Amino acid sequence: MSFPRPTFDGAFDVAAVREQFPILKRTVNGKPLVYLDSAASAQKPRAVIEAMVGVMEGSYANVHRGLHTLANETTEAYEKARESVRRLINAESASEIVFTKGATEAINLVASSFGQGLQAGDEIVLSQMEHHANIVPWHFLRERKGVVLKFIPVTDDGRLDMEAFHALLGPRTRMVAVAHMSNVLGTVNLVREIIAAAHAVGAATLIDGCQAVVHAKVDVRELDADFYAFSGHKLYGPTGIGALYGKAERLAALPPYQGGGEMIGEVSLDRITYADPPHRFEAGTPAIIEAVGLGAAIDWLETLDREAAAAHEHALYARVMERLSGANWLKVLGAAPGKGAILSFTVEGAHAHDIAQVLDRYGVAVRAGTHCAEPLMRRFGLTASARASFALYNTLEEADAFVDALTKARTFFA
Ligand code: PMP
Repeated sequence: MSFPRPTFDGAFDVAAVREQFPILKRTVNGKPLVYLDSAASAQKPRAVIEAMVGVMEGSYANVHRGLHTLANETTEAYEKARESVRRLINAESASEIVFTKGATEAINLVASSFGQGLQAGDEIVLSQMEHHANIVPWHFLRERKGVVLKFIPVTDDGRLDMEAFHALLGPRTRMVAVAHMSNVLGTVNLVREIIAAAHAVGAATLIDGCQAVVHAKVDVRELDADFYAFSGHKLYGPTGIGALYGKAERLAALPPYQGGGEMIGEVSLDRITYADPPHRFEAGTPAIIEAVGLGAAIDWLETLDREAAAAHEHALYARVMERLSGANWLKVLGAAPGKGAILSFTVEGAHAHDIAQVLDRYGVAVRAGTHCAEPLMRRFGLTASARASFALYNTLEEADAFVDALTKARTFFA
């Protein structure tokens, strides 16, 4: 996967896109909202809002259990959303898509279920740039099973050190789990190479696609990923829903994660059997309305030229970088070639939280903190950074408003 290079030729109709996001019309502190926090969670288009309201107003019931009309209609809508996820990442079958609460739950599911087959001394390879969601569940296995965690180091410009990665692989490597795109650095990792190398030593692979799936076309079959996880709410869908892709044979080999209704074959007082994937991993009433919302988000994204959208995001990033190129008070984290439109930075003499608060006075929303990536922060000798992330609904004027507000904010601390 690589991102299209920046162009700003008007090929992408950002005004038409913005029209579809009601929230973007609001003001913050008397200024037009400039929302640059989409890497944390994206805003929702009308298509998503209406699809969710539509289910509740039109045909809501629990899924899979009923024989009545509403139950059947809702089940159809829920399964149609699963098919939308399948299409989005080009899985072979919709039964390879498990609905989860989000990427966090998807990764916990794999760590917990796959982890049952691991023994003390087995090795899991992660990277230093992972979100805590792709670190902590593996630490559980270190604590509970004695598996060994190894971390691919990050270079000064924010890439994975691939030479070091290859040296970490060995006969005890059971799993390689890395982010497709860093939520802090914007780096797009060489996941195809990583997956192929992991497979060559017989290890399974899990790709955290939370950020990547938003900005580029993902093809799990081309990648040959065993597991691929992402959240709906960063993809212009609702919270409370995400997906885990697993190759059919991988999912079939996994024991269940949670127990309850809908995930069983048969239950008696002395024995249970389990349903086939994906239902084996969807215990209890699922997030039905949210799944429909995620399906709507994907269907809506498919109406756009996604390459043009990515190029648009890059043009915004390039504009900001160009305008800030002479700012000796600014430190940018991550300069990997082909990186995504995420700008993490620190300002000399100011805490990241203070920067975010001052920017908010100008209506500009950015994130500040560790971005749930403490090992990465430590790697760069930081306790926090600020982060502006660009989405397909942001404009050139907003990129300029951010630079203007940051330049003013900086004077408070100079
Ligand atoms: N991985 C990455 C790379 C992320 O950016 C995030 C969200 N910040 C997560 C995992 C966790 O996602 P969620 O909180 O939606 O489960």
